[in-house]
Amino acid sequence: MTRKHCIYCLAVDAKLNKDHIFNDWYGGKKRVTSCEVCNTRFSKEFESIAANEFLVPLYTALSTVGLNFRLDLPKWRKAFKASGEEFDQILGSDGIVRMTLSKPKVLKNSSGGIGMVLFRSEKEANEGLKRLIAKTGKTHLRIEKMPVKFKGFRQPFSYDMKQSTFLLAMKMAVALATRLPNFDPLETLLGRMTLFGESTSEKLVSETLTHMKKIDSLRPPLSHMVYVERSSGITKATVQFFGTFKFDCKLGRPDPTVPDAAVLGWFDPIAKKESFSECSPIGLDVYNRIHDELTRVRLAERWNERLDEEARAAGSTKKIDLHGEIIFE
Ligand SMILES: [Zn+2]
Repeated sequence: MTRKHCIYCLAVDAKLNKDHIFNDWYGGKKRVTSCEVCNTRFSKEFESIAANEFLVPLYTALSTVGLNFRLDLPKWRKAFKASGEEFDQILGSDGIVRMTLSKPKVLKNSSGGIGMVLFRSEKEANEGLKRLIAKTGKTHLRIEKMPVKFKGFRQPFSYDMKQSTFLLAMKMAVALATRLPNFDPLETLLGRMTLFGESTSEKLVSETLTHMKKIDSLRPPLSHMVYVERSSGITKATVQFFGTFKFDCKLGRPDPTVPDAAVLGWFDPIAKKESFSECSPIGLDVYNRIHDELTRVRLAERWNERLDEEARAAGSTKKIDLHGEIIFE
C-alpha cells in the first residue's frame, strides 16, 4: 500500500493523525499513522482503562520504593481504604505520592444537620464554603486545615489483568510490526481483528512466565518493551511492561517469500528514553496458553519477584512489597 493509511483499520480516506507506540502520557515519542476513529475508539475501549487500572497504580506503587518517574500521572482513584474512607493517590512531578479523600465527606451533627464537611483541597473547601453560605445564609462557617497522617500504612495492590491490558499489548505489537522490513498489513491481520473485537478461534494474547534473557539483555531494566518477529511462517510479538508483565501476541501470517526479520522497541520510564532498532530474530516461542488457577497464582508470585529484580536493577532502594495479588478476568 503506497498511500498513507491507518495501520489499524487500513482506511486511506479517513482523517489521519498519529498514534504513539509507547503511550505519550508516560513519555513515548515515536508515532505511527492512524485514523482519528481508531485513536478515539482504542483510547476509550481499553487504553484509558489499562492506564487507570494497571499502569498508573504501578507507576505510583513503584515510586514508593525509591524510583523517581517525575510524571504528572492521572489520579489512581480509590487506591486504598483507611478508617472506612476511600483515598485516591496522586504521583506528582516532584516524585512525591500524595493522598486525598476520593470524595468530600459530610459529617452530621447530633440533630442530623451538616456538622462538618471534609474537603480534599483548600480550593475545593473555598468553593464548598461559598456554596454552603449561599445556601444556608450561615456566614459564621469557617475553614479549618486538618493534617492527615497515615501511620503504618502499607500499600495494598492488585495487578488487574483485565482484557484492557491484553488489548493494549496487542495494539503496541501491531504498531511496531509496521517497522519490520518489507512489512505488509496482511501479517498483522489477526492482531487487528483482536483490536476490533472480531472473534477468532485462537487465543491470540496470553500472559507468560517465560523469561527471555536474550531480549532482556537488549533493554534497560524496568523498561516497557515490544519485540516483533517474523519467522517460521508467523509474525508474533512479546510485550513487556516494567520489564515484568509479559504478554505474547500472535499477529498474523506473513508472505512466505519475505525474509525473516525482527524489530525491538523499548521505553525506559526513568531516563524517559526510547529506542527502536532492527535485530536478528531470536526464535520467539508463542503459543496459546490458557492458564489454570494454580499456574496463575505461581505467575503472580513470579511477577512480584521479577518486578522487585527489575526495580532494584533500575535503582530501587526498598523491597517491593506490594502485598500484591493478580486478578484475572
Ligand atoms: Zn483506523
